[in-house]
Amino acid sequence: MPSPRFTVRVPDALAAQVQARIHATGATFTALVQEALATYLADTVPTGIPTGMPTPADTRAGTPRALQETLEALTRRVEALEQALIASRQAADTLPTGADSRPPAYDPTRYRLGGLCTRGHNYQGTGRTLRRVPNGACPECETAAQRERRQRYHAQRARGQ
Ligand SMILES: [Zn+2]
Repeated sequence: MPSPRFTVRVPDALAAQVQARIHATGATFTALVQEALATYLADTVPTGIPTGMPTPADTRAGTPRALQETLEALTRRVEALEQALIASRQAADTLPTGADSRPPAYDPTRYRLGGLCTRGHNYQGTGRTLRRVPNGACPECETAAQRERRQRYHAQRARGQ
């Protein structure tokens, strides 16, 4: 059974482009039309515009050359997006391990590393204590002392003192 045959009229400009493509690639007219149609149908969705009233944009986009250029531009954009995605994924993967391998930075205008405090608060395994810049106090000791004062206070209130 022979495959369906379509007879179509094409504008002069489009016909010239088709002739040029056939001349350049050596493809047959049938192969060119089949490939163009298959590509177009695979990559576009119906717009609901009646085929009898093509808009100028539709006519331009429907030519094989414009279609191929559009496809190539789209391919480049997708590739660029993929590259950006991969780069951001790699950055997300490497950031935590990079942070683990060295102590997190502290604000040097507010803290400095000093000798080990009385409670032995060891900053990131450095054997030293992070201390406030103005008075050299250990913030962790201050927090702990505060917590102990609160606990003593609540214990006294619970005993009714
Ligand atoms: Zn301390």
